[in-house]
Amino acid sequence: MTKTTKTKATTEQETEVRLGRVKFDIKPGEDISADVCYLCGKPATDWPHPTKGTAHGFASITGHPKALLLCQACFDAEGNLHAIARKHFNNPDVEIRYFH
Ligand SMILES: [Zn+2]
Repeated sequence: MTKTTKTKATTEQETEVRLGRVKFDIKPGEDISADVCYLCGKPATDWPHPTKGTAHGFASITGHPKALLLCQACFDAEGNLHAIARKHFNNPDVEIRYFH
């Protein structure tokens, strides 16, 4: 069995992963300890956004009810969509097609 065959068999479902920025209304002193990056587990804090002041980064996966927070490093990282999909499907062989 080839690697490709295995990939197709385990990820028949097609899903879209998108990255976005969102501004949260976090009040001073609010507990944000649960706001950790989906990929690296480090605190997912906001960073400057061109028009919104600062904003958090997130990934949304079609069919997944929650947006997944990302830290700036992972948001900007090369191959991050692939990493998110691999983690989400718990499948290192997940096949990714990019649409721009
Ligand atoms: Zn991260």
